Amino acid sequence: MKLHEYQSKQILSKYGVPIPAGRVAATAAEAKQIAEELGGRVVIKSQVLVGGRGKAGGVRLARSAREVEELAAEILGMEIKGLPVRKVLVDEAANIETEIYLGITNDRSARKPVMMASAAGGVDIEDVARETPEKIVKVHIDPLLGLRDYQARDLAAGIDLPRNHWRSFGQIASALWQAYLNCDATLVEINPLVITAEGRLLAVDGKMIIDDNALFRHSDLAEMRDLDIEADAEIEARKYGLSYIKLDGAIGCMVNGAGLAMTTMDIIKLFGGEPANFLDIGGGASADKVKAALRIILADPNVKSVLLNVFGGITRGDEVARGILSALSEVKTSVPMVVRLVGTKAEEGRQILADANLITAESLVDAARKAIAAAHGA
Ligand code: GDP
Ligand code: MN
Repeated sequence: MKLHEYQSKQILSKYGVPIPAGRVAATAAEAKQIAEELGGRVVIKSQVLVGGRGKAGGVRLARSAREVEELAAEILGMEIKGLPVRKVLVDEAANIETEIYLGITNDRSARKPVMMASAAGGVDIEDVARETPEKIVKVHIDPLLGLRDYQARDLAAGIDLPRNHWRSFGQIASALWQAYLNCDATLVEINPLVITAEGRLLAVDGKMIIDDNALFRHSDLAEMRDLDIEADAEIEARKYGLSYIKLDGAIGCMVNGAGLAMTTMDIIKLFGGEPANFLDIGGGASADKVKAALRIILADPNVKSVLLNVFGGITRGDEVARGILSALSEVKTSVPMVVRLVGTKAEEGRQILADANLITAESLVDAARKAIAAAHGA
């Protein structure tokens, strides 16, 4: 499980890593308020679970509170590598002189954690690793002994860190190791760890990945999971022009039209059920869209029945029915399907579906009741 930068930095800070003052915001107005509280120059940083935000324009320095609002609004409207930005971190800006890389991960072939440091930290660290790997210094950590002081000094010397920073560097390296160990992380990374103009070491960025298999013993970390971002299905849905929002219920919904989709969810709830999702397949339910929508709905293990509510105006019911059957022939499932179909040639459509052993309904109330019953295995 990946943690956001602001979460990672908060954890690292508890272990003694110096981080800039700052807070996370979900709106531009909130970002502005945080900037005013901080005073001075701030940096606005998109919180998305991918690297390379800086290069994508997701990390911006602001000079005034007014600029904070503009930039935050801009960043909050962005998508970075397909992920929507829903939060920004507003941090006191650092006066950066040098950018260092410092991280720990598992070296599987050495069967030990490895701590890595480089004087060439910052946004191009991947290029450094590929083109000039000698600029990355490594020490392997014996898990029983932990990180030894001399190892941290070896790293400091290896990256030609000025002597006056060694003490602070040692503390940061040790904090990083403790965080890695205690959180059952598979990666802990500060990139960049900067030397500021004021002569301090400061973790400007932070990244942590927690071993999913260890989450059972870290309920505090498990709670940090970003459900928003983890919903891959929403990204998949967007590819097919479907609007899909995952919810927690057992009844999958596939509806043509956003308003009708909302109504369908309301009716399901009215009769005591819980929708598993919101899904609008838009007008003209083509077999391809129905197929994609079915795949997405059925990928949710909570789904115990699916309610297809198609209100055909000009769209012909028999064509919709054939579309559904063609989709079902490819997306095999044992989850019961309830189809409510009205509009042109709806009779014919329902007949085709009934012949194929699908549950059909004429009214939405009838459909909702049948879908709820089917979800309960009735
Ligand atoms: P990433 O691109 O996703 O790794 O995001 P980072 O948080 O590492 O930011 C990218 C780059 O933005 C850093 O390498 C810095 O060069 C720059 N940056 C980030 N925060 C600050 C800051 O407070 N002040 C200045 N001057 N630059 C910053
Ligand atoms: Mn970074």
